[in-house]
Amino acid sequence: MSGKYYQPEMETMPAEEMRKLQDYKLVHQVRYVYENVPYYRALMDEKGVAPEDIHGVEDLRKLPFLKKDDLREAYPYGLLATDLKNCVRIHSTSGTTGKRVVAFYTQKDVDMWEECCARAIVAAGGGEGDVCQVAYGYGLFTGGAGLHGGSHKVGCLTLPMSSGNTERQIQFMMDLNATILCSTPSYAAYIGESLKASGYQPEDNHLKAGIFGAEPWTEEMRRDIERSLGIKAFDIYGLTEMSGPGVAFECEEQTGMHINEDHFIAEIINPNTGEPLPLGEKGELVFTSLDKEAFPLLRYRTRDICVLTREKCSCGRTLLKMCKPMGRSDDMMIIRGVNVFPSQIEAVLLNAGYAPNYQIIVDRVNNTDTFDINVEMSGDDFSDTPKVITAREKELQGAMKTMLGINPKIHLVAPGSIPRSEGKAVRVIDKRKRLGINV
Ligand code: ADP
Ligand code: ZN
Repeated sequence: MSGKYYQPEMETMPAEEMRKLQDYKLVHQVRYVYENVPYYRALMDEKGVAPEDIHGVEDLRKLPFLKKDDLREAYPYGLLATDLKNCVRIHSTSGTTGKRVVAFYTQKDVDMWEECCARAIVAAGGGEGDVCQVAYGYGLFTGGAGLHGGSHKVGCLTLPMSSGNTERQIQFMMDLNATILCSTPSYAAYIGESLKASGYQPEDNHLKAGIFGAEPWTEEMRRDIERSLGIKAFDIYGLTEMSGPGVAFECEEQTGMHINEDHFIAEIINPNTGEPLPLGEKGELVFTSLDKEAFPLLRYRTRDICVLTREKCSCGRTLLKMCKPMGRSDDMMIIRGVNVFPSQIEAVLLNAGYAPNYQIIVDRVNNTDTFDINVEMSGDDFSDTPKVITAREKELQGAMKTMLGINPKIHLVAPGSIPRSEGKAVRVIDKRKRLGINV
């Protein structure tokens, strides 16, 4: 298979037709969940809504939300909608924000998920003849398995590297002429840095595209990775609860990710009131699965902050688009009363010419929040005099103040001293948590 779309009939379906398809699927999914998931049935009963009340997408707002806490409470089998003997796979979240959640898949669920990833690979220019290096972790994490399955469906030659062992990644990438790299953006940045350290130029590899996601990354980081690997870098979004990567994927326009609306309905809500917001407004992303068998979730609150838009896309896809998530509502730090997102800090650093190697440390001393950012220097900067380094720290501090409204303490640290990530990067160390402060 090679071409512009993996499933053109779905990816370019006129919006009105897609809406009808969603209406039809939603009615069935709601009935299926009501009949098979006592946990959700109780939530619906409590809200006084029955499957007969749901005639289509316009009735979605009548349904109760599901939250991460529900998934933790129902762990492990409470939201399972089919007999375990019909399931073929289990995956689990990375546990970035607390106890892991497990999700179940029937073979049909796995196929749907892999097709979503196949759409992403084709949108990034992949097809038969491509060598797809999957450097997301394999295992309980959905990254490896999702792109691996998608790569098979597209007919790429799949290199199942998993994450880590960067030397071997590079050797195989070069020896086997990998053309597409799939990994977290932080790992892609590290691979780029390691290639350079091994004496390679960006044009020495055969890569043409990268499919990077599973964690927030900025446009500045995209440019950095594109430069260091000599590729076009595509974003991909997903979450274990909904299947894994591939819920949404980027096309060549690189202006947001198309949501696979034939499988997922997306809504944006006000995170404080739960009120649905119109297209174009910023809020919390909520997903409803439309045809899952093992682990269907209705109105699942992702906590990801984002904007949805439906504008004509030059790629010809009609699917709704989501912007890069601006972080999770629970990523947001409140420091001295000011809302701070790690992505804002990353943007300042990359704009100022630093590599995306940094760590944010927040603590509370004598009832005041402390806010420190360790930023790695490049080898060249490192040889500067202490006076020059202090001046650079001041300069960066000024840029941060302008972006954030508060002053962090900047520490320029030695090259290579900040731990690199092979999966999702840990950018924030919030020591206030030890004080039992709810941050
Ligand atoms: P965990 O929630 O424990 O990290 P997952 O591995 O399922 O578990 O990760 C899903 C989450 O990862 C999403 O809810 C979102 O916050 C983040 N994520 C996934 N893809 C992207 C992306 N392209 N950009 C920003 N964040 C992303
Ligand atoms: Zn597009």
